[in-house]
Amino acid sequence: MRLIELTDRQEYILEIVKAEGPITGEHIAEKLSLTRATLRPDLAILTMAGFLDARPRVGYYFTGKKGSELLTERVKQIHVNEYQSIPVVVNESASVYDAICTMFLEDVGTLFVVDKESLLVGVLSRKDLLRASIGKQDLESVPVSIIMTRSPNLTVCKKDDLMLEIANKLIEKQIDALPVVREREDKGYEVIGRVTKTNVTKLLVDIANDEWGQTDQY
Ligand code: ADP
Repeated sequence: MRLIELTDRQEYILEIVKAEGPITGEHIAEKLSLTRATLRPDLAILTMAGFLDARPRVGYYFTGKKGSELLTERVKQIHVNEYQSIPVVVNESASVYDAICTMFLEDVGTLFVVDKESLLVGVLSRKDLLRASIGKQDLESVPVSIIMTRSPNLTVCKKDDLMLEIANKLIEKQIDALPVVREREDKGYEVIGRVTKTNVTKLLVDIANDEWGQTDQY
């Protein structure tokens, strides 16, 4: 089964190029008794999907790539900014009690902790908060800064990183989420997003439904 459904005309173009490539767009059009302009969108789709390649003054040729190879190539082009979620942050002076309320209210599994300049200083997971709750402390008086995982032990990512790298980091570090950060004038990181196991799962579902990377397709 193909990952991209091609029209009959596109299948026919593929057959022509397979048999006669390299072949110019004009020649393909002639064979189909169509104009070059009519074929342009089909050729663009076949080229962007990776079935065909084109060289100036040479023409179109068949890349010979199988569906799975095209899929692998495409996965390596999906970046964090296409799948990231909105980050939820708490201030480092917030109490563990407040952080638990925020986690429920915002319905997230990981909170990012920032200082008064809104720079990233820590991460709070569900189990961090659970662990803090089984002691005898008064949760309203314990600041999250005491229990969070703190810099420099944070795993972060940038919006241009590949989703594949994110999946690798989540597995390697055995964590659920990464803050998407942007550097602020050498002072530290601003949190601009959140990328989680759910986002990676969404990418998998989109691949299965052939709806992935819609933002920059064709
Ligand atoms: P949970 O603790 O609820 O199973 P995680 O697996 O995400 O959730 O977190 C495991 C530990 O790793 C926690 O102590 C948490 O603070 C820490 N952690 C989570 N995300 C990160 C991250 N991006 N960078 C560094 N440490 C993290």
